[in-house]
Formats: sequence, structure tokens, C-alpha cells
Amino acid sequence: MAHKKDNLPEKICPICNRPFTWRKKWEKNWDAVKYCSKRCANEKSPKE
Ligand SMILES: [Zn+2]
Repeated sequence: MAHKKDNLPEKICPICNRPFTWRKKWEKNWDAVKYCSKRCANEKSPKE
């Protein structure tokens, strides 16, 4: 029997093309999360 608690949502980061999994810190803005990390988010827009 498989006992996987594997029901967390995943997205693919458009910068590094890696899947990343839902994290607690994103629970309120998961829909808006596009990048796996701030680092990737900064790649997207180097100017700020
Ligand atoms: Zn990334």
C-alpha cells in the first residue's frame, strides 16, 4: 500500500524550469507565486 502524502500542489518555475512544491509560507498567495525562489524572481526582473 502506498502511503504517500503527496497531495501538495506543484508549479514549474519559468526561470529554472524546475518543479517546486507548495510551502506553508505561500498558503495565502499560492495563486500569485510564479517562481521557486526570490532568486528566480530577481532573474525575471533585475531592475527594481
Ligand atoms: Zn526557479
